Amino acid sequence: MNLRPKHYVGLLDRYRDRLPVTPDMRIISLVEGNTPLIPLEKLSREAGHEVQIFAKFEGLNPTGSFKDRGMTMAVTQAVHEGTRAIICASTGNTSAAAAAYAARAGVRAFVLIPEGKIALGKLAQAMIQGAVVVQIEGNFDDGMRIVKEMADAAPIAIVNSINPYRLQGQKTAAFEIVDELGRAPDYHCIPVGNAGNISAYWVGFSEYAGIKPRTAACGFCAEVCRFPQPAVTDSRPIMLGYQAAGSAPFVRGGPVEHPETVATAIRIGNPQSWDLAWAAVRESGGWVDECTDEEILQVQKLLAEREGVFCEPASAIAVGGLLRDIARGKIKPGSLITCTLTGHGLKDPDTAIKQSHSGVLRIPAQTDAVKRAILERM
Ligand SMILES: *Cc1c(COP(=O)(O)O)cnc(C)c1O
Repeated sequence: MNLRPKHYVGLLDRYRDRLPVTPDMRIISLVEGNTPLIPLEKLSREAGHEVQIFAKFEGLNPTGSFKDRGMTMAVTQAVHEGTRAIICASTGNTSAAAAAYAARAGVRAFVLIPEGKIALGKLAQAMIQGAVVVQIEGNFDDGMRIVKEMADAAPIAIVNSINPYRLQGQKTAAFEIVDELGRAPDYHCIPVGNAGNISAYWVGFSEYAGIKPRTAACGFCAEVCRFPQPAVTDSRPIMLGYQAAGSAPFVRGGPVEHPETVATAIRIGNPQSWDLAWAAVRESGGWVDECTDEEILQVQKLLAEREGVFCEPASAIAVGGLLRDIARGKIKPGSLITCTLTGHGLKDPDTAIKQSHSGVLRIPAQTDAVKRAILERM
């Protein structure tokens, strides 16, 4: 299809010089990326200390989460290698993205999801997009173990974030942030589940600063990295990762056997990118902390009510952890801070409705009655 020359056609095209994209590849894209960096003006003001907080709203990707960034790259590569099927374990969003890009590419997607505990919107996406949805009697970590064993036995591409192409695609979010701000932020806050995304952002921020992340931070993606490239900025942010208290292996210092949290997207006890994530946190001088489910839901509501930004619970944790760290004086005054809001609130309508205490007014279909109800609440 012929489009205007400057028309945005997706992140593999925009950042192809910095990605393992070759001219002979058939690019599988849904025009993902290029998501807005939304200033959180009220929350910044209320947080005080002259901080400026921006939300990178990844919920506005085609399937409603950042997983699209990694999936366009991973599926493009898989198709290039001649793969006819892809597989992943998922807490929901990876399966939604895998299903969409598989549909686009014309390959089959198999997705393993945990029993119960998957947000309704994500399940709907995987189902209507024609993936084979396998619900296992276990959690995400069980699914991940099975997928790894399966891939050795069958000619099928794993598209979880242990696939180095996923992280390559995901690192472009860091590029976009720097391109938008004209500099790197002082801090970047991000939810941590399987820990692929925090690792990818660190690779992205590092590459843009002209620094090759230490082997530990690049490691397995070394062979697919296109480095060095010209530096775009001279600094990197401090990386702050946040986990749900019931599934916080990075805070506990080791795997959590029965992870639990309302933030189902990060209900993961045995993160696959353990070393990469630690490298990102340590090299940047950052930290990992936890938030309770109560805090997570409270901040999800705060973002929706005060800023009009509706993200899923797992995403809200980035802002929740940050606001607490600002209040505790752990963030330098005057800082420029970005937070990744990883997924859209519409993914999980049940949780949103459950915590909307105001509910829905029921009144007769009469103008007088409606008028009275409104005036009482002005
Ligand atoms: C996948 C996901 C995460 C966690 O990302 P990791 O790379 O697994 O750490 C967080 N939030 C949402 C909405 C997700 O879909």
